[in-house]
Amino acid sequence: MAKPESREIAIKKMAEALFKGAKLLSETCPKCGSPLMEIEGKKICYVCMEEEKPIETERPSLDEVEADLLRFIRDSTSMLRNMRDTRKAIEVLRCILVAVAALKAIKSLKKLESIEESGN
Ligand SMILES: [Zn+2]
Repeated sequence: MAKPESREIAIKKMAEALFKGAKLLSETCPKCGSPLMEIEGKKICYVCMEEEKPIETERPSLDEVEADLLRFIRDSTSMLRNMRDTRKAIEVLRCILVAVAALKAIKSLKKLESIEESGN
């Protein structure tokens, strides 16, 4: 039972982690099937990590997450332009793709949220 918002947070965290040098592994999480990441030698599933957290009363608004993602994509894209190391560039490109996917998901979440709010 994946809560859509925790998956969004997970995707965003994965993109940030990749950007900071974490590795995206070809292995997937045995619990949820999401790609695992390796950080400081530890294998981490961001989706499960978010799922296991107690429900936060204060979560960043979708607008905030969206703005963060847009900033991240813009920064990464300009970084990519000056990059000589192909392998690193591919990693950055992956981050951008994850961020773009997250943005798309946020757009549909926002639609859902506005429907919920109009019901209050
Ligand atoms: Zn998992």
